[in-house]
Amino acid sequence: MTEFDNGTDQGLPSPDPAEEENPKTLYNIRMRASVNGKHCSGGEEILAEKDLEDGVARLFKRGFESPSPHFRKDVSISIRVEGVAPEKLRRSALLPVRQLDSDDDQTTRSFIRSFLHLSLRQISVDHEKATQNILDCIDSFLRPEAAAMWGAIILSPSGEKIPLPDDGVRTTHIGIESQTRNDLLTSARSNGISGRRFPEALMLASKVLAQRQVHLELCISDDPTYTTGYIAGKNIGYIRLPHIKRSGMTGGGRIYLLNKSPDEEELAALITELKESPFLFEKTAPISPPQKLTDLLLTCKQELECHPIPSSPE
Ligand code: AMP
Repeated sequence: MTEFDNGTDQGLPSPDPAEEENPKTLYNIRMRASVNGKHCSGGEEILAEKDLEDGVARLFKRGFESPSPHFRKDVSISIRVEGVAPEKLRRSALLPVRQLDSDDDQTTRSFIRSFLHLSLRQISVDHEKATQNILDCIDSFLRPEAAAMWGAIILSPSGEKIPLPDDGVRTTHIGIESQTRNDLLTSARSNGISGRRFPEALMLASKVLAQRQVHLELCISDDPTYTTGYIAGKNIGYIRLPHIKRSGMTGGGRIYLLNKSPDEEELAALITELKESPFLFEKTAPISPPQKLTDLLLTCKQELECHPIPSSPE
């Protein structure tokens, strides 16, 4: 018998159930599914031991059912379960949510430009140039020939791409308490928001924006049928942006814009934190109704003026 084996398979008496399960121990389950090597679904949860089997079954079902039945025989699913070290777990709150009322991609683009102008004033020496660099980056995501990325790109405060060791940084190790999830879903529903994407995107953005070095995140899905993206910013929260791209566009991507150009060590520490440090959300924040472009910009301006960030040299 190895030191990891509890002996039950050898006919030895089962351990005392009270010792067997530690209700405080949490586990991170991560699922990735692909069809013929192409990623088609992913998901993760952080759960107590008693909920693990259900969680594994839920994520398996999600991965297995993501390709159409015709391609199911080609699906490959990997599920990984890891214990979460209690001293590493950060219990956190989700970002508050605002929404742009937009009927077309021109309005949304115009909001993004004006918002970047406002927000970048807080960190960048040349906010005009930085805004343009970020808009150029968005355009590069949306080019028909753009290759899909695995993770997010990281930009310096001036909007220059910072070289990364891998194909983007993938933020993982996030979970949500079940009551918090229910509260979030109820509030989302009453604001006309449905589907799995929004809670997951909000959790990701809430972990990313909790990092001291990240000033804002922008996301455009690479799903051609999903045209709602977001910007999340320090002191602003998460802004849902309908029509961030036109329907049918296959490109997408994520940007993490930093408030200071990092040295090698700072960059490595940020990447490790995003990839490895476990976040459990146990508090949700309000979702505000959609606002017209000028009203939402005014709200953002007021928020930023209330919470100025001391400008940091690049
Ligand atoms: P999605 O919203 O899943 O369509 O993802 C849009 C883009 O965001 C992808 O092309 C990736 O570049 C990036 N991305 C997706 N998931 C993550 C993640 N967990 N962490 C960082 N970037 C991601």
